[in-house]
Amino acid sequence: MAYLSILRQCSAPVAGLKRGLQTAPKRYLILTDSIRYLVSACLCGGNCRYDGNGKHNASLVARLGKTNILPVCPEQLGGLPTPRAACRLVGGDGADVLAGHARVVDKNGIDRTEAFLQGARLTLDMALSARVHRCCLKAKSPSCGSGRFMQEKKGATMPPGYRPVLGVTAALLLAHGIEVEEIP
Ligand code: SF4
Repeated sequence: MAYLSILRQCSAPVAGLKRGLQTAPKRYLILTDSIRYLVSACLCGGNCRYDGNGKHNASLVARLGKTNILPVCPEQLGGLPTPRAACRLVGGDGADVLAGHARVVDKNGIDRTEAFLQGARLTLDMALSARVHRCCLKAKSPSCGSGRFMQEKKGATMPPGYRPVLGVTAALLLAHGIEVEEIP
């Protein structure tokens, strides 16, 4: 998606930007005046999932406000193509991957751990640079899942097919004290 390209490629100050735009210390163009939430890009309508589709969540976007959202796909940021082979956590959850005790492997058996770690690091950089209030991330993803839907929504009906997954990006954000809301 175009915005991800901008976020990934911008490495120098950009002349003529309007107020509210600035170049972050590393490589990102950040809208510091308005961004309040970092959101999984697939929830914002981006066709960035492994199968080339999105998971547009219109009510979430309306609740947060379109201009308050920084859409991010950690797997694309990690350099993985779209579409791509589905990946799964092997040997533990996202926190175990960060600790070096588990891996991420795609359905062809290729180790994608480094790409997931890279995507997680870049997402953390973006969340910190933009000073977002909260991250709203897609459930059940080996990157974005936070496995907390059931804990946070006590008494709520479990969505069909829900399974708690703590992904690599969510684990890294949580480890840095950033609030993560899991979106089914
Ligand atoms: S769940 Fe996360 S990693 Fe997967 S497509 Fe959506 S934004 Fe990308």
